[in-house]
Amino acid sequence: MAKLIEGGAFADEVTSVFPSLTAPAFASLWTGAPPTVTGISGNRVPRIPRQQHSILESGTGFNPALLRAETLWAAAERAGRRVVVTHAPLGGEPSARAVHIQGYRAIAGRDGAVTGRASKPQQAQSWKNLPASGAPPLEMTFAIGAATFFGLFIDDPADAQTGYDTLIVAGSRDGADLRAKLKPAAPGRGGELAWSHPIEAKSAAGHSATAYLRLFDLKPDGSDFFLYYTRPAREMISHPELWNGASPTARAFIGNGASLLYSQGVFGPAIANGGDGIAEARYLETVAFAHHQLMETNRWALAHLPWDLFLAYTPFPDEAEHQWRGHLDPALPGFRPEIARRLRPLLERVYQTADELLGLFISQRPENTLVALVSDHGMEAIHKLVAVNKVLQQAGLLALNEKGHVELARTKALYPAVNNGYLLINSKERKDGIVGGEERERLLGQIRSLLLAIRDGDRQVVTAVYDPRTDGAALGIGGDGGGDLYLDLLPGYEPDARLGAAQVITQREPYGMHGFNPNRPSMRTLMVLNGPGVKAGQRLRDVRVIDFAPTLAWLWGIPSPKDSSGRVIFEALTEPR
Ligand SMILES: [Zn+2]
Repeated sequence: MAKLIEGGAFADEVTSVFPSLTAPAFASLWTGAPPTVTGISGNRVPRIPRQQHSILESGTGFNPALLRAETLWAAAERAGRRVVVTHAPLGGEPSARAVHIQGYRAIAGRDGAVTGRASKPQQAQSWKNLPASGAPPLEMTFAIGAATFFGLFIDDPADAQTGYDTLIVAGSRDGADLRAKLKPAAPGRGGELAWSHPIEAKSAAGHSATAYLRLFDLKPDGSDFFLYYTRPAREMISHPELWNGASPTARAFIGNGASLLYSQGVFGPAIANGGDGIAEARYLETVAFAHHQLMETNRWALAHLPWDLFLAYTPFPDEAEHQWRGHLDPALPGFRPEIARRLRPLLERVYQTADELLGLFISQRPENTLVALVSDHGMEAIHKLVAVNKVLQQAGLLALNEKGHVELARTKALYPAVNNGYLLINSKERKDGIVGGEERERLLGQIRSLLLAIRDGDRQVVTAVYDPRTDGAALGIGGDGGGDLYLDLLPGYEPDARLGAAQVITQREPYGMHGFNPNRPSMRTLMVLNGPGVKAGQRLRDVRVIDFAPTLAWLWGIPSPKDSSGRVIFEALTEPR
């Protein structure tokens, strides 16, 4: 990345969108248009048209069918250019010519761990073709998606290790039905060889999918073990015949590290909870391997698919920042320097693996090719939640029934579960709405006062309330699928969409989050342009994520995406207009 910055134009105060969440920020990156225009106002978005849907309904914001603005890849295709997109958020729509490899829409289950505590190894019974073993083979079974696997622990005579040292994974109780042979290795020790090849699993719907296995631990007496498996994923390429000749590893998809298992304590206690670092080492290896697999797909696609525009994505460092940023900010009350000292190098390792992926693109870069690097948002340390709906409920603006669900007939406003930093007014123009046009103005004023009055001790928690009718043009907020009032909070606080919270403010274990006002310094992000037509060593200011697509289009000599309102960053270019 340092090389890319040194030889190119670089901005590190890039403004994201409101809310600064993955789906809306990428929708705006690819289209050059704000959320008001893209229609993607969150990772989940309220359903429209409003007449047909209540304020309780939402759909995924990662659905390309909801995107109402033209993407850079569609504009490129329109200009006759060849496009390859790998795993980019909102990529994957059907296209005659563009090649979309989209693993996120092919995920067929969750990742998980199998341990001796949950699946106690038993004396192996009624197996066919048992492999040679220095000790009586022990068996256990486990499932990935809808597929059942049979594990056999043996003492491999060819392995100098005494006791159980090998796990055979088979599709049935038959040693000839071999799927994987694993040796235990501590995290960071076994290298890539410690991981299985992609093994065939089955999704709940019966589709074929693949997953990887990793044996992190096996006790020599067979009493305990720790087996991790990645999320089963189907193959997802827009033109399947193009996979011909690609290795199973290139065709597979992992995408993310085991962040959920790590945060749930399945990998062992985290450092912040008194752990010895094993949980982090295991998590880090899943990150490195996910990156390794991502590199295999991209390496193959770069070499074998025809492209003029190649767009690739990684979910890192975002995923690890969510886990650890909360412990790294000295400004957060309760900051523990000793924990930060241990976690910081681990986060740096995650940045290094992302840098290796970038290195692949730089090393494989054909002549006369522009390399651009951009991120969708920043990150902030959070330790307190603000139950916005509790405030509405206390004021009689939100009513719950005896089951704790929202009762729309008695509800005027809601901070919806999509948690996009905005409230919705239950207007009569919406299904089951009750607020008339004449009441709306007074209601907005009342909610604004209620929000600004929230206190944590003597601190005002909500620092600003934005109305799309007056602030929409400047902030790109509102629209049919957007919110009616947008919030900004004190640093360290996140809105909480829960219903029936006991208190308005609750404290929790620190974590990292984004989604806030994009003008906040912590939400700023970076952009690097490097290649023909770009000044070397140029520092850029006043850059927004919506400037990315029009600038690339201009450099490339194709029309900007149709709905783009971003600017061409002329100060980055060697030949300004
Ligand atoms: Zn994130």
